[in-house]
Amino acid sequence: MFSLKSKIMGLATALMVFAALGSWLGYRALSNDIVERWGQQVAEIQVRYDSARLLSSLEREIGLAKQMASSQAIIQWAQNPEDPSLQEQALEELETYRTNLSDHNYFLALLENRHYYYNNANNEFAGNQFRYVLDPDSADDAWFFQLIEEGRDFHLNVNPDVALGVTKLWIDVLVRDDQGNILGMVGTGLNLDAFLQDIVDIGQDGITTLFVDYNGAIQLYRDRNYIDFASIIKPEGQKNTVDRLFDSPQDKQRILGMLEMLKKRPDTAGAVESGFVRINGSEHLAGVAFLPTIGWFEITLLDLNTLVPGHYLWPLIVVFLVTLVVALGLFHYVIQSRVLRPIASLESAVEQVREGRFELPYLPKPDNEVGRLADHFEKMTDRVRRYTGELEATVAQRTEQLHRQARVDALTGLKNRRGLDEALLEVISRAEREGNRYGLIWLDIDHFKIINDDRGHQLGDDVLRRVATWLKASVRPYDVVGRWGGDEFLVLLSPCDPPTLEELAERIRRTTEVESKTTGVGITLSIGAYYGHPSESIDHLLKQADQALYKAKQGGRNRVVVSLGGLETSDTN
Ligand code: GH3
Ligand code: MG
Repeated sequence: MFSLKSKIMGLATALMVFAALGSWLGYRALSNDIVERWGQQVAEIQVRYDSARLLSSLEREIGLAKQMASSQAIIQWAQNPEDPSLQEQALEELETYRTNLSDHNYFLALLENRHYYYNNANNEFAGNQFRYVLDPDSADDAWFFQLIEEGRDFHLNVNPDVALGVTKLWIDVLVRDDQGNILGMVGTGLNLDAFLQDIVDIGQDGITTLFVDYNGAIQLYRDRNYIDFASIIKPEGQKNTVDRLFDSPQDKQRILGMLEMLKKRPDTAGAVESGFVRINGSEHLAGVAFLPTIGWFEITLLDLNTLVPGHYLWPLIVVFLVTLVVALGLFHYVIQSRVLRPIASLESAVEQVREGRFELPYLPKPDNEVGRLADHFEKMTDRVRRYTGELEATVAQRTEQLHRQARVDALTGLKNRRGLDEALLEVISRAEREGNRYGLIWLDIDHFKIINDDRGHQLGDDVLRRVATWLKASVRPYDVVGRWGGDEFLVLLSPCDPPTLEELAERIRRTTEVESKTTGVGITLSIGAYYGHPSESIDHLLKQADQALYKAKQGGRNRVVVSLGGLETSDTN
């Protein structure tokens, strides 16, 4: 069985943990909600910002490339590739563009003779811009034929140029004549390293920017291993598509779904899709926007663990644990001091009172129900203690009274026969102890029956009371006087000697005779006295006294007969 304390503490702990858990879940839901809202806004802002940065960097280059494509000198040369003067004019114009383009390079590929022209920032190929002839059967040149076939006027492509030993972001623009016939392709290459540095590798912790093409193939990403170089010529399924970055199939689907959503409404510039995804086991918010100018998507990934690190929660957990411990400590203290300890004291006090010990120890009385209970109990115990004391005193008094009453004659107030028996035993044992002798006087009213018969029983009682008074007056204070029954009385004299015995018996007889006359009811007494030995039994000495009394009656009444144990004296009136 659990104690009240452990039950209360257990319940309190459970309640607190329950409440804390509730708060924690609430906090989690709230913070997730905030992070989601905040994250989506951040993702959207970031996506727009990154798109703007990319576009501002590219727009000028794209504009220049488009201008080159519509240059009359170039168009005319492309229509007549073999014309040296047109070639000279066109290359001159291209060189002008080269100085304006940010990476100071250009290319021109002519469809008719598949000649490829190029010059770079170092003007390495001055006068020697014709580099090679594009080969429809070469994989390296496939991009050209693919774009011509697709008839796309504008295209961005990340492509390593094996022959030139460079990897560039190529801006490709088709050159067409007035009728729209394709004559070739012109463009410029941007240094991918510098570009990545500028746009993608911005060094913002927890924020990753990447660009994917219309089909989801990764074009710009800080990790080159993921970039899908020359993706234009790869068949579907072999491309490094953006979904490769994500851990779970659901997330892959989700991102591809977002791309599809944005493709369906390409006009809504600035539309952004966002959602939670996992990358390398950690949660990210992904924001996706479509950039209609270049036909690419911009994806911004926010690493929530970096932006909202888990250790932000540590102070909260510490505060919670400290609060829990302090709250439990306080609760324990309050319960202990205001409930449990007072109850324990009260319990031991109840135990004590149950065993009849009413002197209570100190009882703590907090200002609550337990305190009031302890107070009531203290008052109740005090009352019980008082009542019990009074009751015990009364019982003792009553017992004493009964004890006395059992030994006192109700009519005369003298000892009755039981009282006399006890007094006799005491006298005999004292006599034995001290070696004293003692006297026993037995007396009987003469012709008492006649008084009763003639004057009434009431007067008889009066006479008995008067005799008692006279007897008390006649003897010494320490002598015992008792009524044996009826009209018979006993006097014990201890210590005693024969002259005292005789004298006292005679005094009793005479006093009664003389005093009774003054009351109008004259009476006399017959008295038998015996002088006892310490070793004699009560029966024996009573018998001796009775015989002496009998002799006094026989002798004519109103006389004293003293027996000294063999030697006998008689006293007449
Ligand atoms: P004797 O001289 O031979 O003693 O004659 P007696 O009449 O006194 O005879 P006895 O002693 O035998 O009679 C005692 C009488 O005392 C008998 C009874 O009616 C009366 N008596 C006994 N107890 C009481 C009492 O308590 N009150 C009254 N009024 N009379 C009592
Ligand atoms: Mg008598």
